[in-house]
Amino acid sequence: MKTIDRSRIRKIRALVQWIVLAMVTYAGISFYFFARALENGIMPSISRSPSVEGFMPIGALMALKLWIAGGVFDPVHPAALVLFIIALLMALLLKKSFCSWICPVGTLSEAVGQAGKKLFGKNVALPKFLDYPLRSVKYLLMAFFLYVILLKMTPPEIVMFLDTPYWKVADIKLLAFFTEMSLTTQVTLGVLFGASLFYRNVWCRYLCPYGGLLGLLSAASPITIQRNQERCIRCGSCSRNCPSLLPVDRKKAIRSPECTGCLTCVSHCPAEGALNMALPNRRSIKPELFVAAVVVVFFGGILVARLSGKWHSSVTPEELMVIVPYIKALAHP
Ligand code: SF4
Ligand code: SF4
Repeated sequence: MKTIDRSRIRKIRALVQWIVLAMVTYAGISFYFFARALENGIMPSISRSPSVEGFMPIGALMALKLWIAGGVFDPVHPAALVLFIIALLMALLLKKSFCSWICPVGTLSEAVGQAGKKLFGKNVALPKFLDYPLRSVKYLLMAFFLYVILLKMTPPEIVMFLDTPYWKVADIKLLAFFTEMSLTTQVTLGVLFGASLFYRNVWCRYLCPYGGLLGLLSAASPITIQRNQERCIRCGSCSRNCPSLLPVDRKKAIRSPECTGCLTCVSHCPAEGALNMALPNRRSIKPELFVAAVVVVFFGGILVARLSGKWHSSVTPEELMVIVPYIKALAHP
C-alpha cells in the first residue's frame, strides 16, 4: 500500500482560519475606537466596521425574513444579513464549512482545546449518555429562534424592530457586552473556556444555535466525506482525529449534521484513495479545490455585497452621535 502525507491540508485550514481571525480582530479593534469616539461625543475619524455585524445572527434572521417576505434588504445592518446569507449558502453547498474554516469563535474554541491537549496530554469526550442530550441543546435553541422569528413575528413587527434606535446601535451594544462584562458574562465565559480545555469545541458542539442551523442545512450539500472500503486499511486515524468525534472509519459516507467539512480526517488518512471529499457519484474533490470554493464563496459574497452597495450601514455617524449618549437606556423592544 502506498502511504501518503496530506498534513498540508491542516496547515492550509489553519492559515485560512487565522487570516480570517486576524481580519475580524482588526475590524473589532477599529470598531472599538469608532464606538469610543462616539461615546466621548467626538465625530469618529475612522469608519464603522461592517464585519462585526457577523456576530448578530438573530437580527440577521429577522432581516432575512423581511427580505424574503417583503423584498426589503435591511439598510441598517446590511453586512449582518450578507454574512448570514453567505453562511447559509456555504452550508447548502459546502457542508458546515463556515464553522470549520471561517468562524472566529470556532477557531478560538479549537485553539483552546489544543492548548488543553498540550497542558493535560489529551482532550476527553463526554460519555454518550451526556453527549447526546447535550448536543440537542443547540438544536432546541435554534428551534426556539426559528419559531419566534420565522413563525411568530410578522413582517410589520420586524420592520418596527429594525427601525428602532436599539437596532441602529446593536453592534455598539454588543461591543459593550464584552468591554463592560457583567459578572454573569464573566463567569459564563470562564466556565466555557475552562470546559473547552478538557472537551473539544464545547460551544460549537453543544450550544451554538447558528451551527445547529448550518448543520441541518448541510444535509442538502452534495458533498460528503466518503470512504473507499477496498483502499481503507482500517487504521482508525480518521475517527481518532475527527474534531466532531464521528465514526469515520465505520461509515461509507459521513452524512451527520455534525460534520463540518474540516477535512481533518482526510488529512490524517495514510492510505491513498481511501478517504476523500466526494460528490454523490463518488467523484472525489481535491482538498485544494474545496478550500478554493470556501474562500471564493465567502470573500466573493462579501465582494458582491460591497459592489452592490449592500455592505455599509445607511445610519450616519451624525445619527449615532444623537443615539449613543442614551445607549444604556435602550432595551430590547
Ligand atoms: S468527518 Fe472529517 S470533515 Fe467531517 S468533521 Fe470529522 S474530520 Fe471534519
Ligand atoms: S479511511 Fe480512516 S481507517 Fe481507513 S485508512 Fe483512512 S484513516 Fe485509516
